[in-house]
Amino acid sequence: MTDTQHRKLTQAELLEEARARFGDDPLQWAFICPSCRDVATGQDFQQALAANPRKHTTGQDVSATDIVGQECIGRSLGALDKRQTYTGRGCTFVAYGLIPGPWEVALSNGRTMRTFPLARAPEKDIPAVSIGIAVGDQGTAFTPNSQTSSAMTPGVEP
Ligand SMILES: [Zn+2]
Repeated sequence: MTDTQHRKLTQAELLEEARARFGDDPLQWAFICPSCRDVATGQDFQQALAANPRKHTTGQDVSATDIVGQECIGRSLGALDKRQTYTGRGCTFVAYGLIPGPWEVALSNGRTMRTFPLARAPEKDIPAVSIGIAVGDQGTAFTPNSQTSSAMTPGVEP
């Protein structure tokens, strides 16, 4: 199970890896919860927060990019409500809790941040498929006859 393996990387490496897997839009980046294995994208968090808005202690709205990779989406969908048994998606796990997230990200200010691991890249384009096509036919293609150019060669005077 590589999803819970400890890994150290820099913030730049994390961003580079996220872009390589999911593209430039952070809302498409997906992390996997090491506790319940739910895979949630920034967009999932955006939708969850739109339905269940939360505020930081500072009074500012919690945004998707604040918590993606930091919290399981269950926390934004009602899993924290102790008055009822939560049966929805995700759990209450957080990367900044007593049991830290598996990835340890070195920030540029010298501190480290714990995160969930990035989820695997979507399987829509597998590069291996396109390799191998258009290989066998080389050599049968039309090649211009280069012999005709010899007629243009000026004769050598004795
Ligand atoms: Zn979870």
